[in-house]
Amino acid sequence: MTGNTPILMKSAPVVEQSLSELSSKCSALKEKGITPTMKVILVGDNPASIIYTRNKKRFMEKFGAECEIIKLPSNLSETEFLSKVKAIVDDQSNHGCFVQLPLPKQLSHIDVGELIPPSKDVDGFNKANIMNLFKGEKGESALIPCTPKGIITLCNHYGIELLGKNVVVIGRSLIVGKPMSLLLGNHNATVTMCHSRTQNLKEHTKAADIIVIAIGSAKFLTKEFLNNSKKQYIIDVGMNQDENGKLCGDADYQNIKELVAGITPVPGGVGPMTILSLAQNLLQAAENSL
Ligand code: NAP
Repeated sequence: MTGNTPILMKSAPVVEQSLSELSSKCSALKEKGITPTMKVILVGDNPASIIYTRNKKRFMEKFGAECEIIKLPSNLSETEFLSKVKAIVDDQSNHGCFVQLPLPKQLSHIDVGELIPPSKDVDGFNKANIMNLFKGEKGESALIPCTPKGIITLCNHYGIELLGKNVVVIGRSLIVGKPMSLLLGNHNATVTMCHSRTQNLKEHTKAADIIVIAIGSAKFLTKEFLNNSKKQYIIDVGMNQDENGKLCGDADYQNIKELVAGITPVPGGVGPMTILSLAQNLLQAAENSL
């Protein structure tokens, strides 16, 4: 699985390899009269959200799917927002929809996962899809939350065994930490979910075979959190700005990359895997619509 040189777990080769599979699946659906189509609901003009949604649209179009970004004004009332979303999800011409987060303050309490029906829930946030995770779905046909699903794809690509491994997930958010913990359990890992109230976090991380960190704190995971084996894998979900305004992860990448068996870079690691999973979920939703 690894020699002495740490594996730099980049997403690019995985995405490259998956694109041909996505293209042929998309063509097969088109031959059956279905053009996989996604609608993205973007409220307001958050610069990061504009970039994320644009990247997602570009990626969907790369393999032949259609993607429309529906822009709504930031001062939309809750009633207007709900009725717009309803019209979009009820439209039979699309197979997948999602609301780009974050929402403006007046809408931020809304559970967007519940606005999208399970069959079109390409983000995997609807309760019915989360329930599949609880029941033990590993993701072959279900709509699984994108970032956790992408991390499993990345581990598979780089031959990182999950079965029986001790995996520490740091962070327990609804979009990453919690679904990640469930999905890893479904892949037979032994999972410890840590958070801001965890006592002795370093004891947990030192005992881990794999650490997944998703806390949103730049370069938090330093060498003090690792053991001396050089056999640990680090999956860095974080997207932060460093002191120079450059994108960086939750792991102190420069100072730990030689001390581990493998690590995901930021950028170029988990982020693009999330978009790949979204594409896979869209094709799955389109296929399910048959
Ligand atoms: P979030 O909702 O803010 O949750 C952060 C989690 O981290 C919470 O569970 C919190 O614990 C825990 N935490 C915070 N500080 C901690 C500490 N010092 N020690 C241990 N746990 C700590 O975050 P999120 O939405 O999951 O996002 C996390 C990061 O991933 C962000 O940088 C985000 O931008 C990034 N992200 C990237 C992608 C991608 O595709 N690459 C996707 C989603 C998110 P408590 O629950 O106790 O408060």
